Amino acid sequence: MDDLKPNDLSAVVEADRAHIWHHLLPHKALETTDPRIIVEGRGMKVWDQHGKEHLDAVSGGVWTVNVGYGREEIADAVRDQLVKMNYFAQTAGSIPGSMFAEKLISKMPGLSRVFYANSGSEANEKAFKMIRQISARKHGGKKHKILYRERDYHGTTIACLSAGGQQERNAHYGPFTPGFVEVPHCLEYRRHEQGLEHLSGAEYGRAAADAIEEVILREGPDTVGALCLEPITAGGGVIVPPEGYWERVQEIVEKYDLLLHIDEVVCGVGRTGTWFGYQHYGVKPDFVTMAKGVASGYAAISCLVTTEAVFEQFKDDPTDKLHYFRDVSTFGGCTAGPAAALVNMEIIEREGLLENCQEMGARMLRNLGQLMEKHEVIGDVRGKGLFLGAELVSDRDAKTPVEEAHVQAVLADCMKQGVIIGASNRSIPGRNNTLCFSPALIAKPDDIDAITEAVDGALGRVFGH
Ligand code: PLP
Repeated sequence: MDDLKPNDLSAVVEADRAHIWHHLLPHKALETTDPRIIVEGRGMKVWDQHGKEHLDAVSGGVWTVNVGYGREEIADAVRDQLVKMNYFAQTAGSIPGSMFAEKLISKMPGLSRVFYANSGSEANEKAFKMIRQISARKHGGKKHKILYRERDYHGTTIACLSAGGQQERNAHYGPFTPGFVEVPHCLEYRRHEQGLEHLSGAEYGRAAADAIEEVILREGPDTVGALCLEPITAGGGVIVPPEGYWERVQEIVEKYDLLLHIDEVVCGVGRTGTWFGYQHYGVKPDFVTMAKGVASGYAAISCLVTTEAVFEQFKDDPTDKLHYFRDVSTFGGCTAGPAAALVNMEIIEREGLLENCQEMGARMLRNLGQLMEKHEVIGDVRGKGLFLGAELVSDRDAKTPVEEAHVQAVLADCMKQGVIIGASNRSIPGRNNTLCFSPALIAKPDDIDAITEAVDGALGRVFGH
């Protein structure tokens, strides 16, 4: 970024101060400091309004830019498509819509239908609506309840928050939509909080899933229709399910005739080293939702993918004119999304980014493990692929979470060093203590080492050892 001089962008900063309502920020701090304007990105790096270079360890802040910044190939494909045909409602089809759907489905055995929308929240809402409609038609309104898990997050709308297991996201936004019921989390590191400290590994995995069955029995199996889970919990603290967990979940799904809705909004399209997170666990979803990495942020797109068996239930029924899925997402018809998504996926294949993600993820996990030996404050490290977390505790035996201000100080210190990392902030009160890492899938060994070196320095300065 040679051409940008400090303060060139003062008008942009002023306009931001005057008019922008930043996402997830309390804003008071911006009365005394400048907002950060991200001006340019290339590969793993971004530059701000002061020309300062940052290594981005969170793929655009929220696990999104999987193939990295500045991909002209994607921009060109989007431009060409927009000039040719930018939009028509998805009541009709489009060339990139069909081509991307075909490519996507080739990576998802057992699934066959793609419904396009714009955001992860919206895709999840569509799944909830389909589940409710199946309940109405197939079960006469029974089996309408949707189970979700403590610490999982499914989006920002009221129905998604109703299915959200993060109290800080939900506070003050009720009343919520009825028919969503919480099941316990599956974080092995905190199993003592569930009275399961005597179990570990696969024993804990099964017990954590058994807790889902207990909720089904308590609610009544004829009232419960679906289970909605993140394959690996993201913002709730990067929770990689223990061995045996998903196997037991699949058993429960079959035993109680549930629809399994997997929220791949974060894990989808390569983040964990496979195309989808659920593919690590051999489960058979009925609905898969995805958004962030689908087009790496080059265009807004989300997808709800289902089986042919689900699709068949919404086909013509001469006795009921309301039987079909009466839903349109206006911008689900934008062609920029699938045009970008198609090239995004081709890049992941051509550049071997799934393999790179696995290798770099293993390197990062090893680096974080070494930091754990050095810094008492790291209580646990976990992750899959380039989706990792390090939980910070002030007492390793008691597993007492560090104060949130200290987590924020680590983030600020890394930022000062030119490395952007994240944290499980604004999720569970007192549990916003996990540092989160999700570099782009193009990361190289030097990038991974630079990220963990920055964390090493920050932990030393913030916690004084
Ligand atoms: N699901 C998960 C697991 C998420 O992490 C998010 C957003 O962070 C969403 C859904 C909502 O996606 P969106 O912000 O695109 O609506």
